Amino acid sequence: MSVRHLASVIALASFLLLSWSLWVGLGSNLSPVGAQDPANAAGTPSPSSYAVIVVVDGARADSWDLSKMPHVAALARAGTAYSNAWVGQLPSVTEASHATIGTGVFPRRHTILGDTWRVPNSNHMSPNLLDGNLDRTGYIGKTIRQTNSPSLAATIHAAYRNSVVVALSGHKIYAADAMGAGRADFVAFGGKNQKGQFVPQAMPGHTPDPSILSARSLVLPSYPRKPGLEDGWTIQLAEKFLTRYHPKVLMINLPEIDVIGHAAGTGKTVMQPLMQQVDQEVGQLVAAYKKAGLFSQTDFLLTSDHGMIPAAHTVLSSRLYQIIEAAGGQPLYVGHGDYATVWLKNQARTPQVAAGLARAHIPYVRAVYQKASNGKYIPAAGSPTLSPALDTAYTDLLSTFAGPESPDVVLLYDNNTITMTSGFLKIGRKGDHEGANWGSQHIAFFLSGPGVKSGYTSPYPARLVDIAPTIETLLGTHPHHQDGVVLADSMVNPPAWAQPKQSRMTASLTADMLAVKTAKG
Ligand SMILES: [Zn+2]
Repeated sequence: MSVRHLASVIALASFLLLSWSLWVGLGSNLSPVGAQDPANAAGTPSPSSYAVIVVVDGARADSWDLSKMPHVAALARAGTAYSNAWVGQLPSVTEASHATIGTGVFPRRHTILGDTWRVPNSNHMSPNLLDGNLDRTGYIGKTIRQTNSPSLAATIHAAYRNSVVVALSGHKIYAADAMGAGRADFVAFGGKNQKGQFVPQAMPGHTPDPSILSARSLVLPSYPRKPGLEDGWTIQLAEKFLTRYHPKVLMINLPEIDVIGHAAGTGKTVMQPLMQQVDQEVGQLVAAYKKAGLFSQTDFLLTSDHGMIPAAHTVLSSRLYQIIEAAGGQPLYVGHGDYATVWLKNQARTPQVAAGLARAHIPYVRAVYQKASNGKYIPAAGSPTLSPALDTAYTDLLSTFAGPESPDVVLLYDNNTITMTSGFLKIGRKGDHEGANWGSQHIAFFLSGPGVKSGYTSPYPARLVDIAPTIETLLGTHPHHQDGVVLADSMVNPPAWAQPKQSRMTASLTADMLAVKTAKG
């Protein structure tokens, strides 16, 4: 090799090295398809390179009839199913559940306690997350970041620089933002433009390539009311991100089942066609991963954020207000669901209000708990005596959201009972969730892909909080500081530290899960 030739080789090499370090340093996680993961800080080859999390919002576990869902059944057969999976925390509601999926910590740490919660040390509730204009500012992601909670997105970015993490929904901005936990590269969803069309939109600071947001195939003439249309649109949006970025983690919320469950109930005739539609969408997503050549390197998780309770019985919120006031309480906010949450302006009256609610013997109220001065929940004076197992289960569930933000009093209901507000009475609400009944808590949980046992059904009570540490481990990173555990029993070769951690939880979690599952009345 001549000296001149050598010099030009060195020049080229320096140029490449410079470009490389610029790319690594300034890449800002926008690696397009074709760029390899330039750094694997974990230093070990990972069994899987990609993960997809599909969350079917509000789908009861018993609505997943796999005999009529061939695509889901194929993934389930190839992987591990958790037959006793549950939300495993309170509240069982979209915002809190998705924040937990995205972080691996309980609501008491990420502080997303549902639609609204107490601003600590104040007599104000947080702004309500059902306000789309607020959600568009990235309020949830920013709130989670302020708590310094870990997140799936941040863990993946720390281990794989330039890797892309995406969080998506149809209209549920709050689901996408919560899963992204303020750390996903892209947070996208559907919303109305000035012409009233339903189009893809994105969170400021988490905006993808304009080609995705301007895709003509994603422009619908109006909000998609025809059942199946919105979830199908969301999968199409996911496919655009898959093709453009090959995201390391793709998190998708499918919002429709929840919306229809609230309005039309959980009956088979309503849910079955919708779930078959979900199956078609899962099939479409699998086909897209195969087409992209990534399927054999990708772990799939199919689950729900919570279930749904049919409104066979009701508790009127007007009655709750009467009793709270008669006991000297000044209500700040009364929440709903298959339970009721009470925040007071005069928190000093908490024991009297809780006792008043317990001694009123409201039909279908199973137990009343109050927040004690140490922040822990205890049964109210006069609350019916529960079995020790159910009392422990409720206390454990209540501890997942206990904190300065959490309600002062919680009423737990019998099965198939929901709170009726005057607004819900007008529209004839048919279903709800948020509480501790098995119908709200029990969820489907199918995990499959490289590194996951195939054809295995686990009785372990997997929870939403276990998702982030499990996916992080499957992707070759080491989770830490989370409330969830790695679901090691689903793995062909779990890390040595993971199995004992999970085993230690089995007895107490199984007891809690069974107490909730078998509670009568
Ligand atoms: Zn809902």
